[in-house]
Amino acid sequence: MKALITAQRQTINSGITKNISFRISKLKQFKKLIRDNEAMLNEAIYKDFGKSEFDNYSNELALLYQDIDEAVKNIHGWSARKKVATNLANFPANSYIIPEPLGVALIIGAWNYPYQLSLAPAVAAIAAGCTVVLKPSELPANTSKVMASLINNNFNSEFFTVVEGGVEETTELLKQKFDKIFFTGSVPVGRIVYKAAAENLTPVTLELGGKSPAFITESCNMRISVKRLIWSKFLNAGQTCIAPDYVLVHSSVKKKFLETAVKEIEKATYSINNGNYVQIINNRNFERLINLIDDSKVYYGGKSDKDSRFIQPTIMADVTFADKIMEDEIFGPILPVIEYDDIDKVIDEVVSRPRPLSCYVYTNNKQIKEKVLSRISFGGGCVNDSIMHIANSNLPFGGVGNSGIGNYHGEAGFRAFTHYKSILDKSTLIEPDIKYYPHTKRKFWLIRKLMG
Ligand code: NAD
Repeated sequence: MKALITAQRQTINSGITKNISFRISKLKQFKKLIRDNEAMLNEAIYKDFGKSEFDNYSNELALLYQDIDEAVKNIHGWSARKKVATNLANFPANSYIIPEPLGVALIIGAWNYPYQLSLAPAVAAIAAGCTVVLKPSELPANTSKVMASLINNNFNSEFFTVVEGGVEETTELLKQKFDKIFFTGSVPVGRIVYKAAAENLTPVTLELGGKSPAFITESCNMRISVKRLIWSKFLNAGQTCIAPDYVLVHSSVKKKFLETAVKEIEKATYSINNGNYVQIINNRNFERLINLIDDSKVYYGGKSDKDSRFIQPTIMADVTFADKIMEDEIFGPILPVIEYDDIDKVIDEVVSRPRPLSCYVYTNNKQIKEKVLSRISFGGGCVNDSIMHIANSNLPFGGVGNSGIGNYHGEAGFRAFTHYKSILDKSTLIEPDIKYYPHTKRKFWLIRKLMG
C-alpha cells in the first residue's frame, strides 16, 4: 500500500492532474467504462441483494452520469482562479484564489448504494485533480469485485485504483498518509476513520447516518405526501441513509395516514421476485432488523423469510420515543409511527437527540414549515418530499454533528477535494513607508485611519 500511495503522490507531484484536459479525458473515459459495462454492473448488484436494472439505473448509474456530465461542463469554471478584492492596507496589489487538488485521496464506500457511494466521490476527486485509492464496501462482494476489475484494468494504478477488502485492509490503508479521506458509512466507523486521519492531520469528509424524522402534519396533502413518503422509505428496502427513519404524525390525521400508507404499500407490490424490492444485505442485518420488530405494535407487515433475506414493508404504530426501535438508525423496511399533538413538544424531542442526516416536513402550513426548518439542525432535507434533495446536485449533500462532516455533489464535491490557495500578488511600483520602523505618531495616526 505504501508503494501504491508513493506512486500516486508522484503522479500528483508531476502536475499532470492539474491539467484540465487530462481530468476531462479521465472523466469521459470513466463514463464510457460504466456505460459500456452496464450489463455486468446490473448482474453484480442483482447477485448481491436483488436490485433490479431499473433501480440500478435510476438510483445508482444515472446519478453518476449526471455527476460526470456536470463536472465536465463546469470544471473550467470551478478550477479557475478567482479574483477577490484587495484591502487598502495592501494596495496596490491583486488578490486571487487558486483552487488546487488536495492530492492523494482515499475513498471508503458503504454497501447500500455500492456504485453511487463509491464512484460519485471518485468523480468529484478526479474532477478536482486528485488521484484516488477506492475501497468499496466488502459486503456486496460482487459489486466490489466488478468495480475493482473495471477500474484496475482500465486505469493506471498511479492515478486511480481499487483496493478490495474489509476491516483488516481498511485499517492498513488508514495507517498510510493520504491528503484527503472521504468516508461514507456508520457513525462508529466514522469515529475510527477520523481518529486515524488525525494521526496524519488528513482532512476528512464523513458521510454518516442517523435517525431522520418525517413530519406528517394536519395540513399536508395526504395522498401525495404518503405516496412520496412510502416510496422513499421502502426504496432499497429502507437501506438508505436518508430514508425517513420514523414518522411523527399529528394525532388528528393519524388514522388517515395509516390507512393511506397501507394502500400505498399494497399498490407498490413489493416483492423480491418482481424487481420492486431488494433483499436485506446479509444475515447479520436481517437478524438485527427482525429483533427491532415489536409484534404488539405491528400495524401492517411484519412477515419475513430468512432464506431469501426478505422483510416485508412493516409499519409499527403507537410507538414512543422510549421504544427500542427509536434507539438507533433502523436502516431497513420498518417504519415506526409516533403520534403528537403539540408540534413544539415533538420538536423538543427531536432536538434533544443527535442531529439527523435529513428531516422531512409534509405540510402546506407556512408557520409549521418554518418552525421545523429553523428549530431543527440537520444535514439536508425536503418540504413535502423525502430523499429527493439528493438528486439536485446544486444542493450540497452531507450531515451535521453526528450525521457527518462536510458535503459533496456538484461543486460541493469538487470543493471537498480542493485546497483554495490564497495569493496576494503585490505591485512593486510603490511601497508606502508606514508599517516600517522607526514608528512615529503620524504613522500611527495613519495606520488607525487605514485599518479602522
Ligand atoms: P460501515 O461503517 O459498517 O462500513 C463502511 C465502510 O467502512 C466499509 O467500506 C467497511 O469496509 C469499512 N469498515 C467497517 N468497519 C471498519 C473498521 N472497524 N475499520 C475500518 N474500516 C471499517 O457502514 P455500512 O454498513 O457500509 O453503511 C451503513 C451506514 O452508512 C449507515 O449508518 C448509513 O446511514 C451510513 N450511510 C451514510 C451515507 C451518507 O451519504 N451520509 C450513505 C450511505 C450510508
